[in-house]
Amino acid sequence: MATRDDVLRELGLTPRWRLRTTMPAPAVAVAASVAADAPAASPPPTDPDGTREVRIARLAWDAFAADVDACTACGLYRTRHKSVPGVGDRDAEWLFVGEAPGAEEDARGEPFVGQAGRLLDNMLAALGMARGRNVYIANVLKCRPPNNRTPEPAEADACRPYLERQVALLRPKLIVALGKSAASLLLTTDATIASLRGRVHRYRGVPLVVTYHPAYLLRNLPDKAKAWEDLLLARRTVAQSARPDPAEPPSVP
Ligand code: SF4
Repeated sequence: MATRDDVLRELGLTPRWRLRTTMPAPAVAVAASVAADAPAASPPPTDPDGTREVRIARLAWDAFAADVDACTACGLYRTRHKSVPGVGDRDAEWLFVGEAPGAEEDARGEPFVGQAGRLLDNMLAALGMARGRNVYIANVLKCRPPNNRTPEPAEADACRPYLERQVALLRPKLIVALGKSAASLLLTTDATIASLRGRVHRYRGVPLVVTYHPAYLLRNLPDKAKAWEDLLLARRTVAQSARPDPAEPPSVP
């Protein structure tokens, strides 16, 4: 089993990082809630009367994956091998969100597998966490765009109700957006990742921190230290956040 030092070495964070005893408080009030607290995007063309959106907003956990797997609301169902609904602890305080599945995820039906997934697991281990233990991992889009192309806005809109339902079911204390694409979709902004990092945003009332995608970090080793700073901000935010009231799930109309 990997030791903490092994994990930090894998992350390129040795010599060992130590938490300072006096951490500055996270800037929770910080980021102007961007447009993410705004009402949900308009329904996709496949759902002109909004009935699909309402149905998804009432899905139970046990019905969620099957519903995603049967979804034909955008053209990505034609080219996917497996849908990738998400994986993890259904009572998790942490929700990590990427943009869309890649080839390996499409083949296995699980988000963040392969080399990038292993790095994400190491990032979690460095925080004393593990996939499936107080952590849930998902993507904004549940099916892979062919050749990993950027999702079309209509595809993202069609899939958005599923992530909104996951957020409502989980009621996480924090969302970590992995990479600029995920951050852009969640916060509906074209801002650079550099300008989004280092502060706390909100997605449907839930604090959200932006960091680099693990696949990017594999190609840009020096930025691992910045990702570690983001995760420390995320941990401080979780420590200071209350769980949303279950009586008022954010996405139920
Ligand atoms: Fe349905 Fe989302 Fe897959 Fe499109 S990407 S088919 S909306 S589950």
